[in-house]
Amino acid sequence: MIVGGSGALLHTADGRDILDGAGGAIVGNIGWGRGEVADAVHAAMSSGGYVLPVWPTPARLALLDTLVEHWLPEGFSQVFFTSGGSESTDSALRLARAYQLGKGRPERWKVVGRHPSYHGMTLGTMAAASHSGRQAGYEPLLLPFPKVPWDDPAGVVEVIEREDPATIAGFIAEPITGAAGACLVASDEYWRTVTELCRRHDILLIADEVMTGFGRTGVPFAHQHQPFEPDVVVGGKGLGGGYVPMGAVATRADVAEVLRERGFMFFTFTGTDAMCAGAAAVLDILLREDLVARAASMGERLHRRLHEAFDDHPHVAEVRGRGLFAGIELVRDRASREPFPSGSKLTASVVGQALARDLWVYPAGSGPVRDGILVGPPFVVSEEQVDQIASRLREALDAAVSRSG
Ligand code: PLP
Repeated sequence: MIVGGSGALLHTADGRDILDGAGGAIVGNIGWGRGEVADAVHAAMSSGGYVLPVWPTPARLALLDTLVEHWLPEGFSQVFFTSGGSESTDSALRLARAYQLGKGRPERWKVVGRHPSYHGMTLGTMAAASHSGRQAGYEPLLLPFPKVPWDDPAGVVEVIEREDPATIAGFIAEPITGAAGACLVASDEYWRTVTELCRRHDILLIADEVMTGFGRTGVPFAHQHQPFEPDVVVGGKGLGGGYVPMGAVATRADVAEVLRERGFMFFTFTGTDAMCAGAAAVLDILLREDLVARAASMGERLHRRLHEAFDDHPHVAEVRGRGLFAGIELVRDRASREPFPSGSKLTASVVGQALARDLWVYPAGSGPVRDGILVGPPFVVSEEQVDQIASRLREALDAAVSRSG
């Protein structure tokens, strides 16, 4: 039973302090117990109530202004708000289709996804992703969207040519793969190839920054680490810092212009006033306290500590990621990269052992990455807490492996 939180700690009813090494579900960035976010939401709710999404309000415009001025890539001026990650990625798929319809190309409906990947739990986002565990059993409901390898540029070219670019509306990718891949980072050549193919064929390139956005990797958006130039950027999680359910789909005016005639239907809670006020308060704290730079510097320490703890570990294939977004891939044999047997549930066991040591880390893995752990604490995490994450996680892995026999 969690009864509260402060900084990077979660407080339980029986008096334990759990070190939140994953910011909940890689959501928490400003840390817990920030009353000023609640104050902002309270003020917005007290002064009114529900306002139709198509009408401007001061809170909506303030959030849009700060996004355009401080966060989004150059030229991104159009934002569609949602209530979270899945609604945002799903809206981006719809946007890709609407864009192609607006351009007079009704035969374009496919959205290319990567293997492995995760984009949410709506039927559309499940179809565009490749996360075997989360898709299992729902396959008959999912559109047959094509999948490309996460790392192989030639494989991307081959799939796009085989599918026929004239049938493809969009391409969706996590710049650094989260829950499905435990921080897989593709090469610069990969992203150059993807960007060039999408440009050449007018395929809308969507960066799913739900996990990686708003400073998590030490820069505003993770695609900025590489030659990955999206037409659409999708955010969720960190936009509301874990305090308010907010997501956003952002694009350039030339893309939005194509949608003008058809329109783009809102959700009832698109950009709810109080949620916009809460998100603006979260972004304000990130800016005022220079927390993105802190994610970069504490991220360096985190990676150093994780490398020290795991580089010689017989069951760790790799430590990877950027900033305060780190993945640890677990294998039975480090040299051959043979995974643990699928029934061993090693990831769940490591997470359980970590929790027994008052550390929360996030389970990851699908397809080529059977077992993985995601680490992504709030940006306010202290140096000492970073060191504790690495040492407790090492103990947890050793305990889980010894119990698995
Ligand atoms: N996209 C990515 C990359 C995610 O990691 C997630 C959630 O983990 C989602 C989309 C879905 O977001 P939500 O759980 O807020 O619907």
